Amino acid sequence: MAKTKIAILGAGPSGLAQLRAFEALRKAGVADLPEIVCYEKQNDIGGMWNYTWRTGLDKNGEPVHGSMYRYLWSNGPKECLEFAGQDVLLVGGSYSAEDIGSQCYKYGAKSVTISQRSGTFGYAWPENVSEKPGLDHIDGNVVHFTDGSTQAFDAIIMCTGYQFHFPFLPDELRLDTHNCLYPDNLYKGIFFQSNPKLIYLGMQDQWFTFNMFDAQAWYARDVIMGKIQLPDEASRRKDMDAWLQRHGQLPRPWLEIKDDSLEGFMSLKFKEVA
Ligand SMILES: Cc1cc2nc3c(=O)[nH]c(=O)nc-3n(C[C@H](O)[C@H](O)[C@H](O)COP(=O)(O)OP(=O)(O)OC[C@H]3O[C@@H](n4cnc5c(N)ncnc54)[C@H](O)[C@@H]3O)c2cc1C
Repeated sequence: MAKTKIAILGAGPSGLAQLRAFEALRKAGVADLPEIVCYEKQNDIGGMWNYTWRTGLDKNGEPVHGSMYRYLWSNGPKECLEFAGQDVLLVGGSYSAEDIGSQCYKYGAKSVTISQRSGTFGYAWPENVSEKPGLDHIDGNVVHFTDGSTQAFDAIIMCTGYQFHFPFLPDELRLDTHNCLYPDNLYKGIFFQSNPKLIYLGMQDQWFTFNMFDAQAWYARDVIMGKIQLPDEASRRKDMDAWLQRHGQLPRPWLEIKDDSLEGFMSLKFKEVA
């Protein structure tokens, strides 16, 4: 029988997790593994965690996405180092604004202001860090906020979330989603509904990262190896609808659905093998 052939697109943590899942089988002595090719468009592996001194474009002309920098303690953008002595505005109300604002503060920004449309972080920020409501409009370097207040800034950083963009895929295979904990059309968060031979890893809002990528990769591997059978299309749809309905009803889905979806993963059979 012809060997199964697998293309892994991207050698960031998700792609590497998938490679490691198969490597674990190889090391355990499993023969007849699929033929696997991993494609990475940057010079090196690692994705966001590729430790490079480069910013802007790499030598292939591809944007450098990595955020690694010296003395890194969390993967925030190294560009934060560039705002020392400046008044910086961050637009966004979630972990990117929080992380990047903290990094800018730590690396000597004159002031850090975070604008968000709903609520506040509720933190006791240091003296030169403050919060503002939504951004209304900008005149030159002066920003007008929705409460009528104004302030001049040297730099504005948009922390308004991930955009899912797969320009290299044909329309019928392209996942259409926003940043959320349960993207529609991915059975168990990874198998593309209209063609489950297409697997997306790491598409959930990234509250869990590496552990989640591993759980997904090991599960995907066992389906590919035939150890786990996927249900038929209608049953997959039913399962996804149940999760989507639940997600829609929860007042704070990020707190509750994560734990349950992990529990679902842990009960699957991928635990039994290497
Ligand atoms: C600013 C920022 C800070 C973050 N900080 C943290 C943190 O502190 N801790 C944490 O756990 N997570 C953090 N994350 C989450 C981060 O997304 C994950 O840790 C992880 O990098 C995701 O892995 P991935 O492989 O899915 O994607 P990526 O790391 O983005 O890797 C994708 C890879 O695919 C390659 N690629 C893309 N298109 C193609 C193509 N057509 N052909 C070939 N290769 C392609 C890219 O070049 C890249 O190497 C952060 C994310 C951001 C944006």
